[in-house]
Amino acid sequence: MERLKSSNLGYPRLGEKREWKKALEGFWAGRLEEEELQKEMKQLRLSFLKKQKEKGIDMIPVGDFSYYDHILDTAVMFGLVPERFGVHKEGSISLDTYFAMARGTKDAPACEMTKWFNTNYHYIVPEIGRVEPRLTENYPLQAYKEAKNELGIEGKPVLIGPLTFLKLSKGFAPEEFEVHLEKLLPLYEQVLKELEEAGAEWVQIDEPVLSVSITEKDISMVKAAYQRLNDAAPQLSLFLQTYFEAAARFDEITRLPVAGIGLDFVHGAEQNIKALQECGFPEDKVLGAGIVDGRNIWRSDLKQKRALLTLISNIVPPERTVVQPSCSLLHVPVTTELETELPAILKDALAFADEKLTEITILRDLDHNTEAIEKNTNDLQALAQSDERGRASNSELSGLRSRRPLPFQERRVLQEQKWKLPALPTTTIGSFPQTKEVRVQRQKFRKGELPEQEYRTFIEEKMKEWVAIQEEIGLDVLVHGEFERNDMVEFFGQKLKGFAFTAFGWVQSYGSRCVKPPVIYGDVAFDKPMTVEETRFAQSLTDKPVKGMLTGPVTILNWSFVRDDLPAKDVCNQIAAAISTEVKALEDAGIEMIQVDEPALREGLPLKKEDWQDYLDWAVHAFRLATSQVKDTTQIHTHMCYSEFQDMIESIRALDADVISIETSRSHGELIEAFETAVYDKGIGLGVYDIHSPRVPPVGEMKEMIERALQVLPSSLFWINPDCGLKTRKDPETIEALKNMVTAAKEIRETKVPVQQT
Ligand code: GLN
Ligand code: ZN
Repeated sequence: MERLKSSNLGYPRLGEKREWKKALEGFWAGRLEEEELQKEMKQLRLSFLKKQKEKGIDMIPVGDFSYYDHILDTAVMFGLVPERFGVHKEGSISLDTYFAMARGTKDAPACEMTKWFNTNYHYIVPEIGRVEPRLTENYPLQAYKEAKNELGIEGKPVLIGPLTFLKLSKGFAPEEFEVHLEKLLPLYEQVLKELEEAGAEWVQIDEPVLSVSITEKDISMVKAAYQRLNDAAPQLSLFLQTYFEAAARFDEITRLPVAGIGLDFVHGAEQNIKALQECGFPEDKVLGAGIVDGRNIWRSDLKQKRALLTLISNIVPPERTVVQPSCSLLHVPVTTELETELPAILKDALAFADEKLTEITILRDLDHNTEAIEKNTNDLQALAQSDERGRASNSELSGLRSRRPLPFQERRVLQEQKWKLPALPTTTIGSFPQTKEVRVQRQKFRKGELPEQEYRTFIEEKMKEWVAIQEEIGLDVLVHGEFERNDMVEFFGQKLKGFAFTAFGWVQSYGSRCVKPPVIYGDVAFDKPMTVEETRFAQSLTDKPVKGMLTGPVTILNWSFVRDDLPAKDVCNQIAAAISTEVKALEDAGIEMIQVDEPALREGLPLKKEDWQDYLDWAVHAFRLATSQVKDTTQIHTHMCYSEFQDMIESIRALDADVISIETSRSHGELIEAFETAVYDKGIGLGVYDIHSPRVPPVGEMKEMIERALQVLPSSLFWINPDCGLKTRKDPETIEALKNMVTAAKEIRETKVPVQQT
């Protein structure tokens, strides 16, 4: 083969030990001057570039680095600062304004933040509207010059494309799309012209929306737009990058007037390959072959990737092919090198950002790397054939039923007889404030500084304190408070078989907030009871029912890095089987109200709507496996914290939970309206107050919320609870808010709902 080229699409910002986060938070806390922050950031940025150069990457992205979020950077570059942050008609935008948009100030609420496609990264939503866009500074140009001057690196500037940028923005009506595009295009032209003048060769323009779904109209706009951008800087080669899915209209997209097209050959691989074979690839273009998965943490099977490259080379010659990750490496941790505690068999099968870059260069220089490829095959085989994999699953699953013997309407009667709750029963979502004391004690225990017995006593004291508080407040269904939990997924992962935990496997979630997802690498299986002891203890303190509290299989799956040798659905079923054993263990211990949280169910939805149903079907099935092995009188609760409920209400009903609690306040009543048309005929609690702020809503406000809900939902099925868990709140405000909530419920019971649940 002729020599291929290698490229990267974006590098993680965090640094090996989250130096980026520490610098930012130091600055926000006033420990670091702006100048020191700038210096620290520059050092990090350059070290990332140097690393990519040392790895031998030919096309190194510049300008992908950010102080918070790259979409926010683009908005600020175009002067799109909402007026509540002050009027900025000329000059550049200060760092203070930039952070104010991201984080809010006491006078101006932060810009909205939302999920970046189907990843766990969140971007700041640009607000288009009254402010005229202008070019405040040319960030990609600055990044290009810095790399060149400081390191002699001929970087590839990265930009978010105009179509994606506008599609992700808000503040205008759909029919105004073109008007706003017209305003932005001259700014894009200017950015590109200046890059051309500075001598840049390639510019990467990210258009992930081209992988989702695009209309006829979009395509004609995109064609015209890229024609203009191409004409504006004819010496510059534009590399149009799609990712996260197959290109939506392959033939038209690959023929756009640009010099290179990047395609995802991991997610949507089948479709992209088929389209490539059917439509061919234009002879005047370079193909960015995204063959190394930019979103998972596993080594690539290099033999398989080699075969894929050969397949591609039948259509596009090597001199016009670039080997690259399927998307930016923003979504994976930095390096496995610091992971000294992992079992070797696992570590050798992992690839974070740096290891992925190595894979890319191995694949580029295939002929010289037979040894590396052999080692790769052996490492992957070692894990595949290890004792951790391939035993459990099916035999365990086969005995489980996926539906409860009686339908809800019949269970309901039996449950009402058993539980004898008042009308509009009150409860909470599970966690109580994780005070500093709680966190310190847990940490001490983890580090071995606190003997187990003392730690247990501490947790028991917390449970005693909070069972008493809940009784005093007058809640009807109590919880143990989750004081022993660090995180709702990690807690279970540490107790189940098949999970591993990295030391530095952090990924940016939003701003400086990072997550360290557990790694599911073996068969997931139940080991020993995980929550029985605490729940039973809490129950022993009271005559009121205490709800058991578990995290559901879909959430555990969606918040972990999942092994890729099995379909996600099979892994989910394994988790479900393990959780169902815990559900049974709770029931056997006399805990007969059990909540199985699924806050991440919605996050797993595929990008393309036509794929939704398949996902929802297996997700619902897994939840039902986990919760259907119980007695008719056992009441299964679930909780979800999102308010876009309308478009998946059938699936939520299919979960067949006896009671669901769901967040409401952030949807400002929209969710309640949805129930005017949608039917929900099982127990349901709509959060009656927002737990994201320390504010204590007065009784009247909560009553209003409840009354509004009762106009569309039957009072006989309605529960009263806060929006979500209370772990981030402080004690006094929590107690006060819950008191108000119970008062609101009581007052409404007296006036509005004379009939008691029997
Ligand atoms: N039971 C969990 C809690 O209260 C639920 C958390 C969540 O919905 N994310 O903390
Ligand atoms: Zn929640």
